[in-house]
Amino acid sequence: MISFVIFSLLFIISSVIFFFGIITSLNEAQKKQLAEEENNKKHDHVLPCPLCGSASDIKYDGNGHWWYIECSGCHLQSEKMSICTNVKDKLLEKWNKRMSIDFPRDLDVDDNGYPNDDMLDQLQKTDNVKDAASWLLNIFPKLVRSMPFGHLEISDGSDDFGNPIKIVSYSTGGWSGQEDLITAVEKSIIGILYLYSWRRGGHYVFHVPLTEK
Ligand SMILES: [Zn+2]
Repeated sequence: MISFVIFSLLFIISSVIFFFGIITSLNEAQKKQLAEEENNKKHDHVLPCPLCGSASDIKYDGNGHWWYIECSGCHLQSEKMSICTNVKDKLLEKWNKRMSIDFPRDLDVDDNGYPNDDMLDQLQKTDNVKDAASWLLNIFPKLVRSMPFGHLEISDGSDDFGNPIKIVSYSTGGWSGQEDLITAVEKSIIGILYLYSWRRGGHYVFHVPLTEK
């Protein structure tokens, strides 16, 4: 009787293991097939990286069955999506979505010398990477000088590899209008791309490479 119970138990356990094995291998095979189908699919053009502007491409990580998009320049990665039907289209829809908001050209400050809120808002939302350097070197100084107390200097320098750069040194002078401006600049793509250092008392240094397009 005892041997019968043990035999039945063993039978049940091995059946469970056997069926579980079939289910997992089916799953693996399905994933592989889906990955291949996705791979063979033509997809829409992948837009360049929103941060650095380099070419980007869709990639597949066979170990985890993940698809994602990666920039060839700064290696920014999109979110990773697990394998599913039309996963490439879903990734592209997110990666290729751009806000298409330009840098503000409207340099209004109000009668008390404070920058226009809409302008600051626009500055933080823009993702127009190709105009970022030119805005920082040409428009930003005009804006700083249209308000009291700010101090700004642009000089020539070189980076660690000897490449020519423009160095933008800026102090807010503690004036709240200038502080509002720099807070928006820091949160914008200019903060990500060019802010080099910050020091207590409202002193900021930006490095702008001149080799960039
Ligand atoms: Zn990039």
